[in-house]
Amino acid sequence: MKVVHSIHELELIRAQLGDAQVGLVPTMGALHPGHMSLVDLARKVCDVVVVSIFVNPLQFGPEEDYARYPRPLQHDLDICEQAGVELVFNPGVTDLFPAQRQVTVQAGPLGSVFEGSARPGHFDGMLTVVLKLLNLVQPTMSIFGRKDAQQLASVKRMVTDLNVDVEIVQAPIIREPDGLAMSSRNQYLSPPDRQSATAIWRALEAASTEVTASAAKRAATEVLDAAAAANPNFVLDYAEVVDPETFAVLDDEDSGPALLATAATVGATRLIDNTELTLAGPPRTDEDEDADGDRIGAFRGARA
Ligand code: AMP
Repeated sequence: MKVVHSIHELELIRAQLGDAQVGLVPTMGALHPGHMSLVDLARKVCDVVVVSIFVNPLQFGPEEDYARYPRPLQHDLDICEQAGVELVFNPGVTDLFPAQRQVTVQAGPLGSVFEGSARPGHFDGMLTVVLKLLNLVQPTMSIFGRKDAQQLASVKRMVTDLNVDVEIVQAPIIREPDGLAMSSRNQYLSPPDRQSATAIWRALEAASTEVTASAAKRAATEVLDAAAAANPNFVLDYAEVVDPETFAVLDDEDSGPALLATAATVGATRLIDNTELTLAGPPRTDEDEDADGDRIGAFRGARA
């Protein structure tokens, strides 16, 4: 496994790879089985797997955990090696950003709701670095976890809007045995807060069988409110049923694929999670039944 820090070294290696199918897994390190599931997915379909490890300062707000974000580089390199990763790109901030840097990607409306509203500038910073990584590594495909559903939707939007020549592959959420989505930030949680955090999974489970937006939201909120009542460190930010691509809030008129997306701050740690729903749409009325009856009658009449 090669480990490179500079853009120049990366470009030399990329040139040697020629037409190989390259899979890129962008990460901020502190790798856990959630990240490695993305690597395994890339491994199955690509000739070469590249993992980037870069704690991106542009996607952290001034009050956020950039300085204390875990950076266990040797551990990360060891598990990449064991997983058969060919190349790790681990640039420093000055390796990746030119001193006179000015231009950034703007996430647009998707970047200012939910996580974007709680973390202003987060999606612009994330997309700016993801685009740089895609330009540098020139992968055939890049793999993103559904855990960060709004990030995934933003990356897909960017790739479409800016004609980036890469396939974006989505990977399922990997969870701890008690359901908490794996995250590099889980290690910040105190034991009681870690226990409360399991309410997030229980809320998603409660919502996942509902077929209307209001029922799903109600089911999740009940569990989350109970967790907040039991532990003052558990503060719910949102639990909302949204369109998986636009993050527009859905209601009981909507049908088809949806996400119940939620975020809570537990202690000082922001946790996000989501589950997929299939909404049934508005209940059928007597008029719908009559209209269907008329259509079937007309069909039979046409065949007779
Ligand atoms: P991060 O290092 O937090 O920036 O995450 C890097 C990539 O790993 C992103 O595409 C995340 O969505 C993905 N990821 C993080 N945690 C999980 C998880 N528990 N299951 C699946 N993918 C994950």
